Amino acid sequence: MLSIEEALEKIRGGIEPLPTEEIFVSDALGRVLAEDVIATVSHPPQAVSAMDGYAVRADDVSSFPVTLMQIGEAAAGHKFDGEVGPGECARIFTGGGLPKGADSIVIQEDTDADGSSITIKEAAKPGEWVRPEGLDFAAGKVLLSAGRVMTARDVGLAAAAGATWIRVRRKPRIAILSTGDEIVMPGAPMRADQIVSSNSVALVAYAAVLGAEGTSIGIAEDRPESLRERLKDATGFDILVTSGGASVGDHDLVQSVFGDEGLELGFYKIAMRPGKPLIFGNIGGTYLLGLPGNPVSTGVTSAIFLKAAVESMLGMPSQPLYQAARLGRDLKANGKRLDFMRARLETSDAGLPTATPFDRQDSSMMAAFADADCLVMREIGAPAAKAGEVVKIVLLGTSIIKF
Ligand code: AMP
Ligand code: MG
Repeated sequence: MLSIEEALEKIRGGIEPLPTEEIFVSDALGRVLAEDVIATVSHPPQAVSAMDGYAVRADDVSSFPVTLMQIGEAAAGHKFDGEVGPGECARIFTGGGLPKGADSIVIQEDTDADGSSITIKEAAKPGEWVRPEGLDFAAGKVLLSAGRVMTARDVGLAAAAGATWIRVRRKPRIAILSTGDEIVMPGAPMRADQIVSSNSVALVAYAAVLGAEGTSIGIAEDRPESLRERLKDATGFDILVTSGGASVGDHDLVQSVFGDEGLELGFYKIAMRPGKPLIFGNIGGTYLLGLPGNPVSTGVTSAIFLKAAVESMLGMPSQPLYQAARLGRDLKANGKRLDFMRARLETSDAGLPTATPFDRQDSSMMAAFADADCLVMREIGAPAAKAGEVVKIVLLGTSIIKF
């Protein structure tokens, strides 16, 4: 059986970044840059005032009070074309361009106005309350580098920098195929021995969180012909994710049927729990990720392996899988597989957060999975652990999208 690191290496090593596409900047949230965003304009494009007040020559107001003659007005978007000479000033508002001759701003609160006679009651240092041209960034500067996931802040920054169209990686298109005679699509009539194919919808959601586009292509029954038939619908997708049928039970057909259809197997089985029967390969140019059917196994393996596959396709640098936390309770020794225990995470005032695994860890328990904030990883053969020990966790709260 493969270790999780070996499996991740095979996935990352075997997948090339997808082609790129151009999108409008306002659609860029959560998209991965395929090219650097370089400023085409400086911000601000000229020296502007940071306050409402008067644009002055610092030399004129080194001693005060002093009365200056207002000769014009500069509001944001309305430049004053005149020049401020000795003994003169110009009314100015936040964002207004600094008029020629002036070099500092006296804020309104430090002045008295009597018609066009402006009495300055406080000294101004040269450059005070002035935002020089390019204070934020200058034209030509690389602001955002290829491989970066666009945050909400980045979207604003790119727009300010003059980028209207942005080159990003195309989103991976993921076909989602559930397998099993017992599962039915949400909303369809059900017998007592059937369950909802929650994976069909959960995987669409997992794909979205990871920055991909998931499409359910339905359910294959546990018959070779049914699987073969459904496989056709995966044509043209970047990844086919199957759920269920990946184990060695009589009804677990994914590997054997797809094998007959030309599956080039990358690996099968990983020494982890949940998620041991996991298939990675390529079938007809579409990557195959065959996940176990238990909903929690599907979720945990998606958070680790589907994430890695999507990141590779998006040309993102691989993200560290683990963070550190303190264990919130004692744990028994671990067995022969890497264990990922569903756990609640609590922050503490200082230091590491505390991760407390739930009592029951059955991989069918979706309610507990939904309650979990993270997975506590236990090494193969780890001895019993005490509360307070430092452990590795996988966060479940990490969407690709940030504020
Ligand atoms: P399998 O991997 O096919 O042996 O399935 C393992 C368990 O997961 C079984 O209890 C299945 O009923 C359940 N399961 C399989 N596919 C789905 C699905 N799409 N949605 C919800 N549960 C599923
Ligand atoms: Mg099954």
